[in-house]
Amino acid sequence: MAATEPNDQFIRLKGVSKLFGDFVAVDDVNLDIKQGELFSILGGSGCGKTTLLRMLAGFEAPSAGTIEIDGVDVTTLPPYERPVNMMFQSYAVFPHMNVEENVGYGLRKEGISPAETRTRVDAALAMVKLSDYRTRKPDQLSGGQRQRVALARALIKRPKVLLLDEPLAALDKKLREHTQFELMNIQEELGITFVVVTHDQEEAMTLSDRVAVMDKGRFLQIGDPTEVYEFPSTRFVADFIGMINTFEGKVARVGDDSVSLTTKDADVELRALGDHGLTAGQSACIAVRPEKIFVSKSEPDGDDDTKLRGVVLDLGYLGSRSLYRVQLPSGKIVRVSAQNRRRSATRALQWDDEVWISWRPRSAVVLTD
Ligand code: ATP
Repeated sequence: MAATEPNDQFIRLKGVSKLFGDFVAVDDVNLDIKQGELFSILGGSGCGKTTLLRMLAGFEAPSAGTIEIDGVDVTTLPPYERPVNMMFQSYAVFPHMNVEENVGYGLRKEGISPAETRTRVDAALAMVKLSDYRTRKPDQLSGGQRQRVALARALIKRPKVLLLDEPLAALDKKLREHTQFELMNIQEELGITFVVVTHDQEEAMTLSDRVAVMDKGRFLQIGDPTEVYEFPSTRFVADFIGMINTFEGKVARVGDDSVSLTTKDADVELRALGDHGLTAGQSACIAVRPEKIFVSKSEPDGDDDTKLRGVVLDLGYLGSRSLYRVQLPSGKIVRVSAQNRRRSATRALQWDDEVWISWRPRSAVVLTD
């Protein structure tokens, strides 16, 4: 391998499990993370993501399996012997030390000379844009600035891998977005491998090169954010990442390039592209994202499209887009998100309007798990 080529197996988890008593918190996880990647582990509360991160850091020993980092088996190594640093939430910043003391703490503890500590603190503060705040105490900083102190402190030891546990959870929405982009810039600049744990799907989608969706100790899907969003592999993933409409039913026909499904939710067959290895009669679900559905007062064109009639139950104006809930004659409620392209005081659609909703077969996915 050429020296400049990133290692696709920089972090390797092989058959990693963690049991607390007989409770399985992490269940036989196999995962490769690339060098320089920003990798997010996404899942609901209690799914095992923090336990996985703590095993990478060395705070928790796996019950089974091995962990390798940069070609070295670190499974039994203590945290301080791993090329890894963990960034905890902002409370991990020492309240009695000012910013530069906080950032230089790790280096001083390692006995690095004051001159070198100073140089490295300067560089780390410049990176997180806190050079002008060096003498402030944490309680004189905003939440976002405190978070950046914690980041500088984690980065200054030049770890090969930085583990971040809900790094932005303490911040309000606006600051979180801003800090997300800063985090991405810093990660790109340094080329350090970041592993981020979060329950916030928007955050994971924005930040990451790849995302792993976790449930009950297992990975359900790993892929780049678009892939996971556009082609979820299971109902859980589809529902966890963003909003989605699902129609449960049975496979009616499998064509060369598409599948039709009958469902009690609609009086026509619903189509999706691909054959997905399905057979007629099998239970399955067709899932369509709200923004892939068109809504109109008149019948839409497109012979291939799935078209359904319904009534606008309610609508929400969200600035750049409107969210409609359309009720079908079956009672099923379908969520539709439409871009507001024109500025208009009167909305095109109102409550109780009879409408058509439609989508292209390629906009729907078929799910069986
Ligand atoms: P959250 O987002 O709520 O922090 P998480 O996905 O990070 O959730 P973990 O902290 O990894 O979840 O915990 C996974 C499961 O393991 C939970 O059900 C938790 O109660 C359990 N667990 C974690 N640590 C221990 C422990 N030391 N002893 C017993 N059970 C534990």
